[in-house]
Amino acid sequence: MGNKLDTYATNTWCPGCGNFAILAAIKSVFLSLAQEGLPLENVVLVSGIGCHGKIADYINVNSFYSLHGRVVPAASAIKISRPGLKVIGFAGDGDCYGEGLEHLIFAAKRNIDITMIVHNNRVYGLTTGQYTPTSPLNFKGRSTPGGTKELPLNPLELMLASGAGFISRGTSHGIELLKRLFKEAILHKGFSLVDVLQVCVTYYNMYEYYDKRVYELTDHNPEDYQQAVAKIREWDYNQDARIALGLLYKKQAPTFEDNFLYPPADPAVRNDLVKRILEKTV
Ligand code: SF4
Ligand code: MG
Repeated sequence: MGNKLDTYATNTWCPGCGNFAILAAIKSVFLSLAQEGLPLENVVLVSGIGCHGKIADYINVNSFYSLHGRVVPAASAIKISRPGLKVIGFAGDGDCYGEGLEHLIFAAKRNIDITMIVHNNRVYGLTTGQYTPTSPLNFKGRSTPGGTKELPLNPLELMLASGAGFISRGTSHGIELLKRLFKEAILHKGFSLVDVLQVCVTYYNMYEYYDKRVYELTDHNPEDYQQAVAKIREWDYNQDARIALGLLYKKQAPTFEDNFLYPPADPAVRNDLVKRILEKTV
């Protein structure tokens, strides 16, 4: 055991999988937040179905394995019932841009204060290599040996259109940037999304492709919507282009909890209120 966040679970990810970078980065961020005063017992991790889902086994914080496509509603429910917690959802691209896409759109629209970290390897790794909503046109996988006939989604453009207030992108070859983005996303008040181009070395090894095209945003104002649109559209997850990494868009807005939760975080007050409502209506 290296530190208090390590667990005894045997890691079964393939050697070289981009998930290791995400795991190392988020552990480092949790430790840093703990040093700055965030009690780790106030952190909840939610994962879905896919290779990424095992991250819940590999970090010693409160966690919840949800169903396929249901990371966002599980994370949202935890946040609404206990607004004082920091809730971080981990999902795959199939799990979140496919099966659970409507939940993601509505979480962004409502601006619920959760963080979503998407292990976007652009393939279904756990089920051995089928295409997902972010696989490029003509992707050849187990379910599409002749190549897909669909164009991919640009999930960041979709998030922007859905009202997300924090949209960012990193890669599994850039752990320092991942640490910065994860921390900023967790501290952002409102819905935040980090799309991680997480390479699946076994079914879609894109390390070389990404390494040649990615660059970190420098002269970019994430609060400028038009600049964000331009950078988000620069690469459409399909055609060759430069791939911008970093914080692409940020805005502050009232959260879902700010608008609707009453009473706020005090469990005793809340329990009393629930009791009174039940007595009146049941
Ligand atoms: Fe990682 Fe791909 Fe192996 Fe899954 S199949 S553990 S995503 S390399
Ligand atoms: Mg995937």
